Amino acid sequence: MNQTEIQNLEKAFMDFVHKIEHYEEAIGLIDWDLHTKAPKKGRAQRSEVMGTLSEQAFNMMISPEMKDYLERLSDPDVKGKVSIITQKTVEYYQKEYERNHRIPGERYRAFKVAAANAGDAWEDAKKNDDFSLFLPHLKKIIAFKKEFLQYWGYDEHPYDTLLDEYEPGMTVKILDEVFAKLRGQLVELLQQVMDSPHRPDTDFIFQKFDARRQEAFHYVVLKAMGYDFDAGRLDETVHPFATGLNPGDVRVTTKYDEGDFRTSVFGTIHEGGHALYEQNIAPELIGTTMCTGTSYGIHESQSLFWENIVARNRYFWEHFYPELRKLNPDQFDGISLDQFYRGINVVQPSLIRIEADELTYCLHVMVRYEIEKALITDQIKAEDLPQIWNDKMEEYLGVRPDSDREGVLQDVHWSMGDFGYFPSYALGYIYSAQLKRAMDRDIPDFDQKLARGELSPIREWLTDKVHRHGKMKKPIEILQDVTGEGVNPQHLVDYLTEKYRNVYKLS
Ligand code: ZN
Repeated sequence: MNQTEIQNLEKAFMDFVHKIEHYEEAIGLIDWDLHTKAPKKGRAQRSEVMGTLSEQAFNMMISPEMKDYLERLSDPDVKGKVSIITQKTVEYYQKEYERNHRIPGERYRAFKVAAANAGDAWEDAKKNDDFSLFLPHLKKIIAFKKEFLQYWGYDEHPYDTLLDEYEPGMTVKILDEVFAKLRGQLVELLQQVMDSPHRPDTDFIFQKFDARRQEAFHYVVLKAMGYDFDAGRLDETVHPFATGLNPGDVRVTTKYDEGDFRTSVFGTIHEGGHALYEQNIAPELIGTTMCTGTSYGIHESQSLFWENIVARNRYFWEHFYPELRKLNPDQFDGISLDQFYRGINVVQPSLIRIEADELTYCLHVMVRYEIEKALITDQIKAEDLPQIWNDKMEEYLGVRPDSDREGVLQDVHWSMGDFGYFPSYALGYIYSAQLKRAMDRDIPDFDQKLARGELSPIREWLTDKVHRHGKMKKPIEILQDVTGEGVNPQHLVDYLTEKYRNVYKLS
């Protein structure tokens, strides 16, 4: 092929994948609408619209046209002559194509139907606290995943293939080692914290705080973080999320609990961290497949960096506590900054993952990781899950659920077939502490900046090191380039140890 032919091929391919991106953006907008503003009566029809668009995008990804583009663009004579963005895009779709075209269309559709039914059954089972209602559906979903694994194949461990979908390059071998190191030290620190006589006072947290006043605070904090309201908005929902349609339209949602302001304050900052990632991807990537976060784990590292490392830091509240007090003076009357800081950092091993504190969160993930690995390799049976779940919770966290609603039925992920997803939450914690260690070298007066409410240097650093690259760098490349090492849980342990020594006045 001569240069003009190569240019034409490159343009035709990029036009083709832009169309897939357009479907994805429409799907994202419909999904946001379904979870925020859509009237109840319109939702069923809208879900069908979304199904049609998703199928269309999926079909394009596995189409003969895609196959032809990928073959021609990976030709050694052509490969080096297209832009680096095109090369990465080809790489991305090659992997997607490989993964998806192997599964016969009718099996994929059957899985989608099974997952929809499993979702309904899970809701029912959770509501009625009856695992047996979910069990037959869960068995089907697990069987589908195992069937798909046969099509996909794997190198060392079948679970590696599932992990790779959420955290490219992550393996059981790495995670086993990382989690073992982390677990031992977390459990030890947790024990010291629980034995401490200096338990923070938390009564002030649970007073009534009007939702609209909480909302006013979110605008102050999101703006200080550098969230661009001309490229986004804040709305209310049931299960908070952030959605990046394109860098010019990245929306944050939150949930208000008037009896516990932490839900929306930390929830909004968390989703704001996800949103900053999507708003600050380099302009040259806009409209391409590379214009999104590189993995679930790296995405979570951004939300957790803001939620925990910034907003659960004492210095952050030196600036923002007076702002919060202004909005609800009675609630914080007589509560010093120190009491406030210690109160919002209380540790309590609990049954529910999404309510867990910084110290215990990763232990919840490890319970799920061990169970998923064992399910996929037939070491345990789905029938025995409630018992296994409760035993593991007791072993890892020292608490035992009385009901499956607060135990094995609490998360939606398995009903959707999302096995391999949970570890990315823990990786987000680990990565965020690694990033903080690297940031300390460049921003040595981090705490002083927080105390003055100067958050933009932090946002700018994260943009430079993480955000702007979008999907152009793999998660491990980001880690290596920014921190000089691979996954290392020690920085998280050090961060938590220093923090809780302070909060619980440990010796
Ligand atoms: Zn998140």
